[in-house]
Amino acid sequence: MRLNELVKISLEGGILSREQCRQVLNCPDGEVLALLDAAHKVRHRYFGNVVHIQVLTNAKSGLCPEDCHYCSQSRVSTAEIEHYPLLSKDKIVEEALRAKQLKAKRYCMALSGRGPSKSEIEKLCDIIRAIKKQTQLSVCLSVGVLEEGQAEQLKAAGLDRVNHNLNTSERFYPQICTTHTYQDRLQTVTRCRAAGLEVCSGGIVGQGETDEDIIDLLMALRAVEAESIPLNFLVPIKGTPFQDRSQGLNPRRCLKILCLARFLNPDREIRVAGGREYHLRSLQPLSLYAANSIFVTGYLTTGGQPADEAWQMIADLGFELEVEGMSK
Ligand code: SF4
Repeated sequence: MRLNELVKISLEGGILSREQCRQVLNCPDGEVLALLDAAHKVRHRYFGNVVHIQVLTNAKSGLCPEDCHYCSQSRVSTAEIEHYPLLSKDKIVEEALRAKQLKAKRYCMALSGRGPSKSEIEKLCDIIRAIKKQTQLSVCLSVGVLEEGQAEQLKAAGLDRVNHNLNTSERFYPQICTTHTYQDRLQTVTRCRAAGLEVCSGGIVGQGETDEDIIDLLMALRAVEAESIPLNFLVPIKGTPFQDRSQGLNPRRCLKILCLARFLNPDREIRVAGGREYHLRSLQPLSLYAANSIFVTGYLTTGGQPADEAWQMIADLGFELEVEGMSK
């Protein structure tokens, strides 16, 4: 594999051929450091040595009528998780203020469910206005499928970004969810974009997909021009239909996937999301040579790295933290 050629194509706005993508995913383990060095050249062009962290609140948990097989909150999951309706405004604002203290640049709220009700949208708009009044945090919302007009309402309340993941390739999608489609997801992404919201859209690897599916997903994320791409590594949660999957992942494999994500989406914010601690383990710092963003303190129903440990990791790398209100 000619790494300099991959860097050149990526920096010049070109697209790696499928064969080159396959080579990245199948890079010999002994060459992973060289691959990371190449991905870092691309990352450095657009983001220098800057990293930013995000804090996520599961603002409504469980009891979801959908059947996403990876998700502990789905109707087909028996995982022992908390169930609660949308948290109060006071509680969520308190969480946003905590995110600010944890040196986050962006605060994310996620709600379980297929999509928000009319009253939830109204409550969310009120919450977004309150957060914006008290902080300069960028605010992102993950709320499922949006109906016509809902994205505009959220934008008018001050929302910066919506997270809606494509999750996997169109081909593999029916294997991970049957209650809504890949096209439903694409439509929500399109609606958010049309409403002037930034788009955060990524995926989950380790669900039994092939290399071709990973390439398709990363190409699709390039095509929708997602500003932010969170890559999750499946955490096999007991009680979910995918509790026995993710065997194909190891720290080197995760790094190769992140490198490919960077080559295909050179100037996009790439976030090492769920499963960072579980799958990358001692190699977590290396992920930031390809990615430029992480979550701290945890995910929807699983815990994560404490913020002070993440700050130390970032400082040890010689990288710089981007915080609330900065726009690098
Ligand atoms: S991912 Fe979202 S839509 Fe799917 S089951 Fe979980 S909470 Fe429901």
